[in-house]
Amino acid sequence: MTAVQADEFPPIDPSVMPLNAVIAIDGPAGSGKSTTARALADIFDLLYIDSGAMYRALTHAALMAGIDPGDEDALAGLLTPVNLVLKPAKGEVSVFWNGKDVSKAIRTPEVDANVSLVSSHPSVRSNMVERQKIMGRLGGVVMEGRDIGTVVFPLATAKIFLSASLDARVERRFRQYQHRGLDVSREKLRQDLAERDRQDSGRMTSPLAISPDAMVIDSSDLSLEQQNQICARACLVNPTLDLELDTDFETAFREIPWHYRLAYAFFSASARFYGLRQVGNEGGALPRGCIVAVNHVSNWDPPLIGSTFWRHPVHTLTKAELFKIWPLGPLFRWIDSIPIQRSGYDAGAFDEAAARLGDGANLLIFPEGTRRAIGHPGPVRNGLGILVQATMAPTLPLFIRGSYGRQPGGSPKSPLEVHFGPVIRWHGVPDLLQDHDKKEVSLRIAGLCEAAFRELQARSFAVHPETEYEKELGAKQLKKFARRQAQVFGG
Ligand code: C5P
Repeated sequence: MTAVQADEFPPIDPSVMPLNAVIAIDGPAGSGKSTTARALADIFDLLYIDSGAMYRALTHAALMAGIDPGDEDALAGLLTPVNLVLKPAKGEVSVFWNGKDVSKAIRTPEVDANVSLVSSHPSVRSNMVERQKIMGRLGGVVMEGRDIGTVVFPLATAKIFLSASLDARVERRFRQYQHRGLDVSREKLRQDLAERDRQDSGRMTSPLAISPDAMVIDSSDLSLEQQNQICARACLVNPTLDLELDTDFETAFREIPWHYRLAYAFFSASARFYGLRQVGNEGGALPRGCIVAVNHVSNWDPPLIGSTFWRHPVHTLTKAELFKIWPLGPLFRWIDSIPIQRSGYDAGAFDEAAARLGDGANLLIFPEGTRRAIGHPGPVRNGLGILVQATMAPTLPLFIRGSYGRQPGGSPKSPLEVHFGPVIRWHGVPDLLQDHDKKEVSLRIAGLCEAAFRELQARSFAVHPETEYEKELGAKQLKKFARRQAQVFGG
């Protein structure tokens, strides 16, 4: 491989990575996974999770308790009542076993020598994998290990398999141990690493293996900076779902009921008054039975979006509380809105929405489930994935910007624009459903929708850069999201 210089890389735009992205990094010991996983977490503002630390914590506890690392039942007994907590902070992960910080204690040569045997037991693995899936269920993580792309997150947004020659790995470990003041010879390290490779690759349950859709990167001759830069780029070009982006669909006029014409006349007059600019689909055309998925920043989004579709009636999923307010309730019913309860999963609303899509109606949804600040769309929730799986409806992502400043009492402090993406046709979904959990497929669909929002946003910002006002609002939202993530980790 020819070496590349770090400054040969054009800068990365981290905002194109979905907030709920899951990046899976696998590879053998010493391939540089931890360093690169931390760097990617930093570049894309995701949480770094070291799954190996979980197996190490169990190994350490077993050694302390005098349990034989080959005794599967005794190990499983240790795990059942245990409180194993990872607390990510500033690029590091602290590991707590029953409330005790064991972060340092799990990095000793004794743990190194026993961890592969401990982690080879099927009951240990299923327990750990379950915990790891829970940590990643909202997305927003970079997880490194041996089976992350193959078993833990088979539908990760991006998968990287890092490899390196045994010589290069021995040298790296040697320097790490030296740095920590531990005295181990190169020869001993070589034997240990080769033995761990053998055990990790040869075990029956989820062995170290390359996922067919992972990017394989050999880091033997790369500097750390080169390795990180190459991996970061690999994350942005690693699609794992077969789909078609369609800009050339039928634009036939459909019969529009008179009350829609009336509503449209009102909405479009208001939109014109506020100076709404449509980018990407001036005709407002839609394929039949299409989901219109829009990022949500203001209560004015539905009428503003409605004003862009003069060729088609578009039904909406609208929060149930609004139906109780007069005259909104009757108005929403009149324009075919479906009330949706936002606490928990409202099966009735989803069934109704799926039935209408099946009848060929178009449906406007806000897949983030709630309003978010301008400039920071996402995370997209499971609802979109549920609807797509039930109907296979083509999906048109739209990005709206600037409606927030136009709420009554607000002032126009950013350009008011609606950007149309290409329609997504989800060809790969039925295949995925044969082998994968519905929730995993939903997370993948959500990630793609979010990626589309971000791409449209980037286009919008390229013409009218983000304003100070938008930045301020965005910063507030990111703080809120970080708090929510922290709750999931019990941090
Ligand atoms: O990554 P690290 O070297 O800290 O991992 C320690 C050990 O934990 C590995 O050698 C492997 O045996 C086990 N492991 C695993 N599956 C993972 C992560 C680590 O089996 N996802």
